Amino acid sequence: MNSKKTLYIGAHADDVAINAGITIHRNPDKAYILTVTNGVSFANYPMVLGGVTLDSHEAYVQQRLEEDKAAMHVLGVDIDKRFTNSKIPCRETYKYLEQIVEIITTLIKTEKIKRIMTHSFPGESHPAHPDHEIVSVCSYIVGNEYGIEVWEYPRFKSNSANKQTGTIFLEEDQMEIVRCDFTLEEATLRDELMQIYITQGFIIEKYRTTSEMFGRVVRNPKMIPDTTHLYGGTDYKPTPQDIRKAIADFL
Ligand SMILES: [Zn+2]
Repeated sequence: MNSKKTLYIGAHADDVAINAGITIHRNPDKAYILTVTNGVSFANYPMVLGGVTLDSHEAYVQQRLEEDKAAMHVLGVDIDKRFTNSKIPCRETYKYLEQIVEIITTLIKTEKIKRIMTHSFPGESHPAHPDHEIVSVCSYIVGNEYGIEVWEYPRFKSNSANKQTGTIFLEEDQMEIVRCDFTLEEATLRDELMQIYITQGFIIEKYRTTSEMFGRVVRNPKMIPDTTHLYGGTDYKPTPQDIRKAIADFL
């Protein structure tokens, strides 16, 4: 899964590391990283996360970027040449479809990318983060336009204690699935990698794993199924309707 020039896309700092870190580490010279958002929605400042004092929104944005770069550097990625953060506001990707498509298109063309790894497409059977779904749809718009294969990360199942219990692809999809099992050394590296995201301490336990999986299926980004969303409280913005309207308007 790592032999072609591949663009690994994540909505937030840590998504690519969580979903594909070890696969990247097996062949970092073929890996290009795009983290789409700035990773920070709203918070009250100052606050302390993982022992780091964050005085402002901008300080938190910068901290998340530095964590992501440090993790990708550990994996062997040339940060100066192959890491992009497009700083779209977190939770607002649905307002920036055109920009995201443009950013992905530019990377595909300039780096002659042959494969895209991205978030799971919207689907009925398991809720996802709205930013993940927008990023997935944008990835397919570009992949289909330029004939580049698109693979997806699975979604995470978690229990009532918010600990990951497994990864799944959507029940309604018949996907071609490839799985990469870690060696003992890679499992250790994976744990160390998660610890680099110092302000996101919960991910070490929540997303601990000894394998990575990628799934492929033909998608039509114009056909978005009804979905629920991970943070689906009644006051959560954007709503599923906001997402659907943004995609429909863009297409
Ligand atoms: Zn994310």
